[in-house]
Amino acid sequence: RAKATGGGGWAVYDPQMHARVVDRLELEGDLRRALQRREISLHYQPTIDLADGSIVGFEALVRWHHPTRGLVNPGDFIPAAEATGLIIPLGRWVLTEACRQAVAWSTESGGRPLKMSVNVSVRQFDRANLPNVVADVLMETGMPASQLCLEMTESVIMNDTEENLAQLIRLKALGVQLAIDDFGTGYSSLAYLRRFPVDIIKIDRSFVEQLGGAADDSTLARTIVQLGQSLGMSTVAEGIEQQGQLTALRRMGCDLAQGFFFSRPVPADVAGRLLREAAPMTDEPAALAA
Ligand code: C2E
Ligand code: MG
Ligand code: MG
Ligand code: MG
Repeated sequence: RAKATGGGGWAVYDPQMHARVVDRLELEGDLRRALQRREISLHYQPTIDLADGSIVGFEALVRWHHPTRGLVNPGDFIPAAEATGLIIPLGRWVLTEACRQAVAWSTESGGRPLKMSVNVSVRQFDRANLPNVVADVLMETGMPASQLCLEMTESVIMNDTEENLAQLIRLKALGVQLAIDDFGTGYSSLAYLRRFPVDIIKIDRSFVEQLGGAADDSTLARTIVQLGQSLGMSTVAEGIEQQGQLTALRRMGCDLAQGFFFSRPVPADVAGRLLREAAPMTDEPAALAA
């Protein structure tokens, strides 16, 4: 395939590009086999209630332990899974495993209602059967619908709007919660946000980063929290790494938070231990007592 070069000529063969294509094809082949070979697992990152520091639930984040490449990040294989359609079986596996784990933890802790958030790709809406898949998984695992939250990016409400809206309405009818992930980084309009049955907005990490440091700029984070409040949605801050960010977000009235400050995403056994220890994770005893 010919490729334009900066010099105005045409390069018919670019060895570097060839290497990248081969690499991608290999990765796709490997990904096809990865599910059967049990190379895929889930890590869990706790979601913290900013009012009392308790763990209200977890977000499931997929991990691929590649036999030769080591740990491959979702950012490096989700796009390939989306392009090849492998996201459909992968997405179903993630949903099932996350629900199975949530039910196991709830049972262990004597029925404590635990939220489980699962990321879904816009491609999982393509076949118009995501609500059926979710209904099946809830049935198979015994997961109460109200404890499942589906996280999607703004693209879901921007692409194929009517088709996707119909599916979101069916998902809401099942009783699951819906969250907009990485909010503020896409191009969804306020009008769409109001039309779509969204329960939660997750404030993208890029806005949280700007809080509490030397160049403190809380304008955007505060605006999103207020937007959530005025639309009756809860807000979750993503990527809290420092105490100052936590303090700022709590003052703004943000409801929930995640981030390395509380915990990195961890394997199931470690997450289970965090849950059993169940000590408030905000490290602000004075604020907690108040
Ligand atoms: P996301 O859903 O926005 O997940 C948050 C990402 O930020 C995770 O990266 C998490 O490890 C990271 N993170 C959490 N707290 C902090 C922090 O304090 N600081 C920093 N620097 N990073 C933090 P991860 O696990 O690599 O996932 C990346 C993205 O891949 C996710 O973004 C999500 O869009 C996608 N993804 C992950 N698992 C799945 C899945 O099962 N299905 C689909 N469709 N997408 C997934
Ligand atoms: Mg997410
Ligand atoms: Mg996010
Ligand atoms: Mg993100």
